[in-house]
Amino acid sequence: MARVALVTGGIRGIGAGIAVALHGAGHKVAVNYRGDDEVARRFTEQSGIAAYKWDVADHEACKAGVAQVEAALGAIEILVNNAGTVTDAKFENLTFEQWHLVLRTNLDSCFYMSQLVYRGMKERKFGRIVNIGSMNGQAGQLNQANYVAAKAGMHGLTKAIALEGAKHGITANTVAPGYLDTYMMRTMPERIKQKILDKSPVRRFGQPDEVAHAVLFLVDEKAAWTTGSTITMNGGSHMY
Ligand code: NDP
Repeated sequence: MARVALVTGGIRGIGAGIAVALHGAGHKVAVNYRGDDEVARRFTEQSGIAAYKWDVADHEACKAGVAQVEAALGAIEILVNNAGTVTDAKFENLTFEQWHLVLRTNLDSCFYMSQLVYRGMKERKFGRIVNIGSMNGQAGQLNQANYVAAKAGMHGLTKAIALEGAKHGITANTVAPGYLDTYMMRTMPERIKQKILDKSPVRRFGQPDEVAHAVLFLVDEKAAWTTGSTITMNGGSHMY
């Protein structure tokens, strides 16, 4: 059944892969982005998926953005909280500014966006919320205390939403990928990338369509029994 889906941070990288896969599966899809108008224009031109600009770290902007998407496509039934950012620094040097930017963008946004669609999903007795967490939120990572805390918080928030949403037909799940060589990785030195590859049992980074494959499963009507879970996908780099 075709559903209305919104993917935050969906004009490039993992989000774009997810949006294109949902669109290909027949859903009515919108994406959000923060600032890159040119990338957004090209994404829409190539995919036929409309892109809406707002900052997911700003509650009022999320409220207006959700209203805009719902006016265009109808009530949101599938939400993928994918927008995220990093500002890496050693824990001892981490500034308040870096801490708050990453917590607001990755975690506060997830609360804002999920709550904004939750009430409608509850009324309609159907909803799918998928949060894009991270292997680093499970395993920890050097120089990423803010990002690790945000992603671990996201994993916890997912479980709480899953518990409350269960009796209303709403599922909430997390996909926790390992490393994909996207724009987000642009500042990572090549020698660190090589170290990651050397440690990876499959010897490669992930691809956005591999993450999208898990999302397609989680949003399916038949995935109604899968809630509060974390799908870990990292080429075997970190096993539970
Ligand atoms: P990219 O940096 O390639 O893309 C991030 C997207 O999020 C962009 O579309 C960006 O918009 C958007 N975005 C960032 N901040 C905001 C904001 N405040 N409001 C609205 N949109 C925003 O990232 P990836 O595709 O690599 O990552 C996607 C998700 O996957 C993130 O949550 C990330 O933490 C997670 N992840 C990534 C991994 C990786 O190795 N790449 C590994 C594990 C998890 P714009 O282009 O306009 O700035």
